[in-house]
Amino acid sequence: MADVVDHAQRLAEAHLARSLAAARVPVVAGVPGICGDCGEDSARLVDGLCAPCREPNPRLPRRF
Ligand SMILES: [Zn+2]
Repeated sequence: MADVVDHAQRLAEAHLARSLAAARVPVVAGVPGICGDCGEDSARLVDGLCAPCREPNPRLPRRF
């Protein structure tokens, strides 16, 4: 059983290391305005695009 526990511990440590590395990535502040792609008013545009247009998620319907 120690092998399974050791493997779980290594996975947890690797997950923590990846999460900490991802949290250290700087986030652009953005500006409020009208999205250049969908035309929606957004509180945070980055490079002129709102969040759904920057990173479309197929699980979420886009608002048009
Ligand atoms: Zn948009």
